[in-house]
Amino acid sequence: MEKDSASKNPTSGDLLAHSDAAAGAHTVHGVLLPIPTDRAYSYSAPADWNLQPGDVVRVPLGPRKVAGVVWPEDVDNAVDPAKLRAIEHKFPCPPVGRDMLDFVAWVANYTLASPGMVMQMVLRVPAAFDPEPPMSAIIYNGGSPDRLTGARSKVLDVARETFDASSGNNQPLAWTRPGLAKAAGVSTSVVDGLIKQELFDHVSIEPRPVVAKPEAGFRPTDLSAAQTSASEALASRIDGGFSVTLIDGVTGSGKTEVYFEAVAAALEAGHQVLILIPEISLTTSFLQRFEKRFGAPPAPWHSDLTPKMRERIWRQVGSGDIRVVAGARSALFLPFKELGLTIVDEEHDLAYKQDERVAYNARDMAVVRGRIGDFPIVLASATPSIESHVNADKGRYHRVALPTRHSGAVLPDLSTVDMRGLKLPANRFLSPQLKQAVADTAERGEQSLLFLNRRGYAPLTLCRACGHRFECSQCTAWLVEHRFRGTLECHHCGHHEPKPEACPNCGALDYLVPCGPGVERLAEEVEDAFPDARTIILSSDLMGGTNRLRLELDAIEKGEADIIIGTQLVAKGHNFPLMTLVGVVDADLGLSGGDPRAAERTFQMLSQVTGRAGRFGRKSQGLLQTYQPDHPVMKAIVSGDRDLFYEREIEMRRRGQLPPFGRLAAIIISANSKPEAQNHARQLAQAGRPIAESSEGITVLGPAEAPMAMVRGRHRQRLLVHATRQADIQSFLRAFLAAGPKTRGSVRVNTDVDPQSFI
Ligand code: ADP
Ligand code: ZN
Repeated sequence: MEKDSASKNPTSGDLLAHSDAAAGAHTVHGVLLPIPTDRAYSYSAPADWNLQPGDVVRVPLGPRKVAGVVWPEDVDNAVDPAKLRAIEHKFPCPPVGRDMLDFVAWVANYTLASPGMVMQMVLRVPAAFDPEPPMSAIIYNGGSPDRLTGARSKVLDVARETFDASSGNNQPLAWTRPGLAKAAGVSTSVVDGLIKQELFDHVSIEPRPVVAKPEAGFRPTDLSAAQTSASEALASRIDGGFSVTLIDGVTGSGKTEVYFEAVAAALEAGHQVLILIPEISLTTSFLQRFEKRFGAPPAPWHSDLTPKMRERIWRQVGSGDIRVVAGARSALFLPFKELGLTIVDEEHDLAYKQDERVAYNARDMAVVRGRIGDFPIVLASATPSIESHVNADKGRYHRVALPTRHSGAVLPDLSTVDMRGLKLPANRFLSPQLKQAVADTAERGEQSLLFLNRRGYAPLTLCRACGHRFECSQCTAWLVEHRFRGTLECHHCGHHEPKPEACPNCGALDYLVPCGPGVERLAEEVEDAFPDARTIILSSDLMGGTNRLRLELDAIEKGEADIIIGTQLVAKGHNFPLMTLVGVVDADLGLSGGDPRAAERTFQMLSQVTGRAGRFGRKSQGLLQTYQPDHPVMKAIVSGDRDLFYEREIEMRRRGQLPPFGRLAAIIISANSKPEAQNHARQLAQAGRPIAESSEGITVLGPAEAPMAMVRGRHRQRLLVHATRQADIQSFLRAFLAAGPKTRGSVRVNTDVDPQSFI
């Protein structure tokens, strides 16, 4: 915690500044700063600045200057403003709306994060608080270069282009340097060379919008009867105040088409719209699809944007110039001017949960945002979370169901492949049955997906001579071999080392063996079995990053691959028209471990993956290789009896009072040494015991070593708090943590309300 209360450290400089302005009255304002603080700090400002809650201001904080937000809390007006440090500057950006301020406070209260850290998510793009400067641009002035190369003449051809002649304006166009280079298909250095020869005049032009405005009526889709009634239900809720609607529709049923109509209705009513999508940076096809329907793409929001782009989008969302954002979870904290609809696509997806800093679930917080802003929320999924399913059952959420695929495309025919007794060689993971299916599919000119949620070559490397296993020194985890890179890597902390020739333990040469499959190893098997097939591996650690991935995804969509080997990346939202076979290499992966949501997650994952097949009307099949063909999850998927699966799972949750029938919170105590973490955890549990004992409906379990006992060199102990639905878990946690010892040394205590991860 930063203990830096501005009100306690007035500097003489500020006092002088104030006595200068003694003629005018000053007022005291609370300013919430993007630092781990529980409350707003008091500052003064001239009364005639007329500061209002939400205004973005710059204030001194110790030796630093930071941007913060005028906070609506009552401040102590009895404080003499002359004793406070002064607000230095009010930024010209629109104030953070009242809804957003309430939302920040709500999220902080719910997650037990400090309001300052939540506000930090809103203020993430400080450069955007000032207006966008005019862009510097160049206009061709008619001269000719000393030497005309091919590249140069390309540039000049483009630069000579005139405005639409019908407008009578025949001036050459103004271009930005990179814009001109891109349009001419040359590098910027070519343009720079021509600028040097003074062939261009410099001008400044108004900044352009990031995206054009989408039009509600641009090109509506002809919807089926079921889709029409679903979309009408959604549209009718626009302007009807807060509501939550769950679109529960099988993969390929047209959920996207349906919620596009809700977007259209919201746009027509003058609202901004937020569409949350997991892995948005990979789904260019989503942006294109949106553009087809609305004539302009939505503004994207994710961590892959350039700083300049983030800045412009933040600003234009605030000004209302951007009407629709398609973003990752952090888009929830954009300063929308008039948000009137939020859609959470693939609402069950784990990517909505942030575990670091502020531990929040963007799906749940989107619902809160809608309640505060009094507008509708739409959740969409083929495999709704148990939480949303129960909320819909209980009538807290509306439900619209789309039980069949669009235009009669049938769901894939699913069956299990019993791996027991198959006796495959240790380096082989594909059953004869799956291999045959891949061969048949290729024969028909169609695509197969082999799904394995394991990056790298092999999840474990061991020495056959001495039994040594390669483990991360900083984490409780095996090192994963990545053969392309020739490394052993930890998937938790990123540690990597070259794979040695000899065992570091016994020195034996050539005794190291890979154990188990990763996608790279599977690719070897596929290449051996299908030497003529075009194979693509899709995994988040491909060389070339997101761009390469996008290109690969496009290539698959266009049919430029026969066999795709992929991790969970491929499970999400993509439409592969030629894909008719999905083979799940290890369907049991994910069923083990102490996660109460393991069955649900596996069910969702398997349904999503197999749902990639046959989306365009071709007959398709899914094969699930499993050692537990009788497991309820496998049976539910194969029989297509989703309802039975949900019924069972909901009943189990009810009996265990697990979410949503009860609530959980994890308290993770971590430190650089195990005794430190252990001692603190014990003391915390002990100090809090009387509070736990007197709190109705609350149980505290632990402390115990966390399943991931060490991450990044930090030793972890865990307490798990269970509460009934009626108990106030936040108040309890606050009291419990306050009763504990002060954190000392390297000890850190993190609270995760509604944890999704149990490692
Ligand atoms: P979901 O989101 O439920 O998986 P999508 O909205 O992506 O389904 O639809 C699956 C495929 O079917 C997409 O290619 C989509 O364009 C197509 N589709 C769905 N509904 C229609 C419709 N009414 N008219 C034309 N194509 C449709
Ligand atoms: Zn590690």
